[in-house]
Amino acid sequence: MRFPTSQPSSNRSATSRREKIAILGGGMASLSAAFALTDTPALRERYELTVYQDGWLLGGKGASVRNREAHGRIEEHGLHVWLGYYENAFTLLRRCYEELGRPPGAAMRTLRDAFVKHSAIVVGEQTSRGWEHWSVDFPQTDEWPGDGRPLPTPVESLRGATLQVLRYAMDWWKEWRGGLPDADGVAGQLQGLLKHVLTLRAPLLAGRAARALAEGVGSVLDRLRALARRDLEASADLRRLWVVLEFSAVCLIGLLREGVYGPSGDFEPLDELEFSEWLRKYGASDMTVSSGLVRAFYHLAFCDGGGAGAGLALLGMIRMFTCYRGAIFYKMRAGMGETVIAPLYEVLRRRGVRFEFFHRVERLELSGDQRRVDRVVIGRQATPRSGEYHPLIEIDGLPCWPEQPLYEQLVEGEALARHGARFASFWSDWTPVEQRTLRLGEDFHHVVLGISLGALPFVASELIAASPRWQRMIEHVKTVRTVSMQLWVTTPIGQLASNAGAPVTTAYQVPLETWADMSHLVPVEGWRERDGVRGILYACGQLGRGDEPVAVNDPRASDRAALEDIARGFLEENLTHIWPGGADSHGRLRWEALFDPEGRTGPERLRAQYLRVNAEPSDRYVLSLPGSQKHRIAPDESGFEGLILAGDWTRTGYDLGCIEAATMSGLMAARALGAPVSIVGEVPRKRAGPRVALPRYIDRPGEMSLRSPYVLEEVSMNALVLGARRDALGALLDRYLNIPARGHVRYVPAAPFVVLAAAFAGRAFSGDPEHRRLGYMPETDVAFWVPAWAMRPGKGRLIPDRLVWFLPHIFVSTGAAAAAGREIYGFPKSVVEVEVRRSSEHALDYLSLVGEVLARNTPETCGTRARILEVTRSNASPGPLRSVGDMIGDLVRPFDSSGEWASSLARSFTADGVTIAFLKQFRDVHHTDRACYQAIIEAKAAVRTVRGYGPIPGAFQVRWDDYASHPFTADLGLEPGGQKALAATWVDFDFVMESGREIFRADERGPLAAIG
Ligand SMILES: Cc1cc2nc3c(=O)[nH]c(=O)nc-3n(C[C@H](O)[C@H](O)[C@H](O)COP(=O)(O)OP(=O)(O)OC[C@H]3O[C@@H](n4cnc5c(N)ncnc54)[C@H](O)[C@@H]3O)c2cc1C
Repeated sequence: MRFPTSQPSSNRSATSRREKIAILGGGMASLSAAFALTDTPALRERYELTVYQDGWLLGGKGASVRNREAHGRIEEHGLHVWLGYYENAFTLLRRCYEELGRPPGAAMRTLRDAFVKHSAIVVGEQTSRGWEHWSVDFPQTDEWPGDGRPLPTPVESLRGATLQVLRYAMDWWKEWRGGLPDADGVAGQLQGLLKHVLTLRAPLLAGRAARALAEGVGSVLDRLRALARRDLEASADLRRLWVVLEFSAVCLIGLLREGVYGPSGDFEPLDELEFSEWLRKYGASDMTVSSGLVRAFYHLAFCDGGGAGAGLALLGMIRMFTCYRGAIFYKMRAGMGETVIAPLYEVLRRRGVRFEFFHRVERLELSGDQRRVDRVVIGRQATPRSGEYHPLIEIDGLPCWPEQPLYEQLVEGEALARHGARFASFWSDWTPVEQRTLRLGEDFHHVVLGISLGALPFVASELIAASPRWQRMIEHVKTVRTVSMQLWVTTPIGQLASNAGAPVTTAYQVPLETWADMSHLVPVEGWRERDGVRGILYACGQLGRGDEPVAVNDPRASDRAALEDIARGFLEENLTHIWPGGADSHGRLRWEALFDPEGRTGPERLRAQYLRVNAEPSDRYVLSLPGSQKHRIAPDESGFEGLILAGDWTRTGYDLGCIEAATMSGLMAARALGAPVSIVGEVPRKRAGPRVALPRYIDRPGEMSLRSPYVLEEVSMNALVLGARRDALGALLDRYLNIPARGHVRYVPAAPFVVLAAAFAGRAFSGDPEHRRLGYMPETDVAFWVPAWAMRPGKGRLIPDRLVWFLPHIFVSTGAAAAAGREIYGFPKSVVEVEVRRSSEHALDYLSLVGEVLARNTPETCGTRARILEVTRSNASPGPLRSVGDMIGDLVRPFDSSGEWASSLARSFTADGVTIAFLKQFRDVHHTDRACYQAIIEAKAAVRTVRGYGPIPGAFQVRWDDYASHPFTADLGLEPGGQKALAATWVDFDFVMESGREIFRADERGPLAAIG
């Protein structure tokens, strides 16, 4: 029998059109988002990406250029080193280099060619004797970051940290007391604690045990302090060891007292207090708080003056010191532009990402109801002659960014060249050649806002005005100007510096407090032997404080003059402390040690060096002031439909201004759009709990929405397996689970088949003691079951966590089943008339479902009752039936050869029961295109008794019509109109549909719950 023909509901050409994503700004966060959003063929088919970038350079705060007029020297936005715990950034870049596939012999082929390990750090200390240097060589190993390995667990890191503290204490004791006997019993006490920590197990770290450990460490510290107080000033070595010991012990004590156990613990509540205050609260002395060790953090995070939240400072320091792999720092073997940004650009271009250079975003405009970004207004600064601007130049075989636009490629090149590269400044008077307006639905479907925080008051003022959350973010999360200086010197640094080993020096004189010997770049830049360049030094620091307003008038000219003054003063007064070889016999700086091809004298030689002030609004460094973290907005929480955020200013849980945070934010932005990403060290967001006590549900007679759990007894089920297309199943899971979950959960099709299950329950009733008394009903459920893996982050990728079933179409025989199913779990149930014929106890011969349908969607279409689905069984040979074993093989094959998944699957069908995933939602009463509640739910159907099961002989044919209201073919990737079952099974059993749990819930403030 065939049903009357009707039009398939889905419009193939419409569904195959790619969704457009406009990425605004091309910094590290945007590029990371673009990388993750194009990382699979399916994503590339789904999305079309365009990056809109002001001017000619990508990279933002991490940009660098090669100055062709100065021997191709590297000019950075600011000194950049990568830290050894940047697992996400290194993983992304390693994969980028692998995809780049540079040929053997090419410059910088792999990640390991691009970076060099660095372990020597010098911290400046201002003592009564003047500047002193505290050199530390951090242990190095052969490891490299970048394979996505998780960070140590909280317990591992706490144990590691405690052992480290106690070892410091032992070292300190030895240094101080030498071989003297342990008359005070302190060494014995230390040894006792060491033994205790070595036997610690996770549960012992909770509550009283944690407090006891904190007290033990505190009492040793107090005793040592009392014994040693007088001797600390006498020896710098002893004092420094003491500072390390006291700092580590105080952090440990504070973290134990506050119940935060390590790099993945919840540091956020600690953030209300300023870092130094927090250290004092847990017993740190002035000596430690003002030490180079603590000041180093303030200077690396440009937060001298305004301070830093204790939680983030601790998280940053713990990751820096205890989570690094290989080396604490990694220096790049060229500029950040050619080492990081250009490779990302090249790979993204190959993947089809479009880059619109010379596109300055002027403002984002909202829809009338202020719910979404409707338009993006852009000033186009120039016109590429060939339609596309090619931004890179090659220097010694390496694609690099030039110091100014490649004017010859631009129609307005000559005029721009006369205007100078400053045309790309926020304060430029260059008039855009065109104003472009990107419109929602035409030019973009989603916006990724990667422009940095400092510029948001200018480009996103409508959003700020419309949203109190945005206002709070702008008010509390601050930015600061930075300065940067690069010096080319004519004497090898080894002969100038007091410290060998090309150190990174920090906590020195503000505002040029951080220095790095970058002489390894001399051969990379185009210097000839006769030029006499023997070394390169980089310095950077903050200018002003984070609480200053972003200047509305161009501050660069005055900033530049100020910087020259600062640089001159600094070099004359301070540099000879770290650079004694640069001083003349009177201890004054020998200016001729600076390279100057024009042979100028004295401070004039600064002209040949590279000095810059980063005052552009978007270039301002994002601070982590105390109490500010909670005001940041997460990439997937913008509060405006279709708007995703990316940048080191967003809420990632790791809210420090650095490349790793920018990468994490970009990955989170991509995840919000459905990209499968794995983020190492992500701090889980708090699970949404009810914000108010839940009101009691008012039961109404006849409503039939009974309380869960539901018990279904005397169930006889026929399950037919139908081959299905994985891509269609993937799209289905994306639509109903992954996209609403904004990436917080990810489900992927587990196999290329679905199961059509018809279950006939003799008795269905509530398992709740009160509602059990109300009665029972017989119930029939017929549904398509889609097997899916719920994924979780594993080593550098997502791995299957648990098998779940998703039921996109489910038909029931009673209103009670429909009401409770929809209201409680989110089953998309509808009530149908069911006709069944059977000639044997276990197998049906005929099944038909008749219900309400809309054959097609036109205003004239009248809903009718029609047959939705029909199943017939014949005695014909079933054809090549597939064994259940084969099908289980399909489920597990992609993931596992060990059989681990097979056994988890077997368990899930028997002892554990099966888990069902749902999209539960209710329409808002006023904004009916909106959900007033939307969540991803999982609930278990737990099998109680199995009375028997077995294969069903004969051949099953399933038929349907693709009504617009029931588009089975398109939804499930089936054959149009019907198909034969690959296998059929009966099973008689009882089961309980247990109460569900929210895996993720979106509320008006955005999603609060993360993976459970
Ligand atoms: C001096 C200095 C030194 C640093 N050193 C280190 C370090 O050693 N290690 C480390 O890990 N981190 C360091 N950082 C921090 C690091 O550079 C940043 O955290 C990171 O680059 C931020 O990336 P982002 O994508 O979030 O923002 P950004 O890099 O600011 O990117 C924003 C992008 O938007 C573009 N844009 C801005 N306005 C517009 C507009 N109107 N229209 C179109 N495009 C626009 C910008 O040009 C840029 O491409 C340093 C920062 C500074 C300032």
